[in-house]
Amino acid sequence: MQDILAEIGRLKKDRRAVILAHNYQPPEVQDIADFSADSLELAKYSMSIDAKIIVLCGVRFMAEMAHILNPDKIVLLPDESAGCPLADSITPEDVRKLREEFPDAIFLAYVNTSAAVKAECDICYTSANILDVISKLPKDRKLVVLPDKHLARWVREETKREIIIWGGECPVHKAIDEENILKMKNLSPLSAVMVHPECREKVVALSDFVGGTGGMIRFAKTTGYSSYIVGTERDMCHKLKREIPTKNFLPANEEAVCQDMKKTNLLKILHTLQTLEYQILLDVDIRERARRTIEKMFSL
Ligand code: SF4
Repeated sequence: MQDILAEIGRLKKDRRAVILAHNYQPPEVQDIADFSADSLELAKYSMSIDAKIIVLCGVRFMAEMAHILNPDKIVLLPDESAGCPLADSITPEDVRKLREEFPDAIFLAYVNTSAAVKAECDICYTSANILDVISKLPKDRKLVVLPDKHLARWVREETKREIIIWGGECPVHKAIDEENILKMKNLSPLSAVMVHPECREKVVALSDFVGGTGGMIRFAKTTGYSSYIVGTERDMCHKLKREIPTKNFLPANEEAVCQDMKKTNLLKILHTLQTLEYQILLDVDIRERARRTIEKMFSL
């Protein structure tokens, strides 16, 4: 183990590489990363660093984001097959068909979509900024919020806007149900409940806070509870504990595990640094159109 860590450290220095990890990565990956955060923060951070190589420990759409925003850097995904079933629930063709159906609508692409889907949409969003993004859009336009149906339904509730919903969902957040929350509340009645907006409606209804993983960290830092039930991917509790060691974090469901996020491990990080596999490359036209969609989000 020490040898692997030493070799990763040496190669990082030699190759001028930086390791970025999403909050759902396995604890040992979060612990060796130079920076770990939610998708939005990872994207912003990737633009601020002076590095030749970015090793993106996450899933493909995150590595694509880093490549789109940093076309001059080499972006590596340690496991080529790390994808996202939610992102795969919609294709560029689906968006084009929806455009025909709703020609006057504004199309919003979740960060959890492929670059090709982002390229077909008007503006990108994350679970951290969706309400903010929508508050800046013209009030008289319909919105198509892609692709997660639970998140879109929550947004409709919060904004009272006319929102067209696609049928995608995240299997990890779907695995968290009301029974899980009620059971944990029973075990720890003084805990606050934080849930991700990709959770089902009945789960959201039982929560004290709804937001992305960055929002959860801020909520836990700024509220007075000593313990929190965490309704998202299990290893978010590791991130929360690292950020706020004085408080307790309990997964709402121990089995809410993203298998794609767990495909990354230290050996694969070492392999990617040794071989420069697997490099993210996109068609330039798709990359540039997706970039405009992402930059529109930043400009708001
Ligand atoms: S947790 Fe869900 S949305 Fe996130 S990468 Fe895994 S499958 Fe995709």
